[in-house]
Amino acid sequence: MKLVRLCALLALGLAFAFAMADAAESKKARCCEKASSQGKTCDHVCCIDAAKQGKQCEKCGGKN
Ligand SMILES: [Zn+2]
Ligand SMILES: [Zn+2]
Repeated sequence: MKLVRLCALLALGLAFAFAMADAAESKKARCCEKASSQGKTCDHVCCIDAAKQGKQCEKCGGKN
């Protein structure tokens, strides 16, 4: 019984680690990074569209 519980816990931890790794992989596109470093938002239509969906623009090299 204990072993089963340990395995479940391990699987949960692994899933959590994967989720965290995914989140860390999200990357801003270079144009958006530059704009945000100047306190602006990127004015590319593709980037604005991606931002509306809460994503980074993949067209410009961003990662989600
Ligand atoms: Zn951009
Ligand atoms: Zn873009």
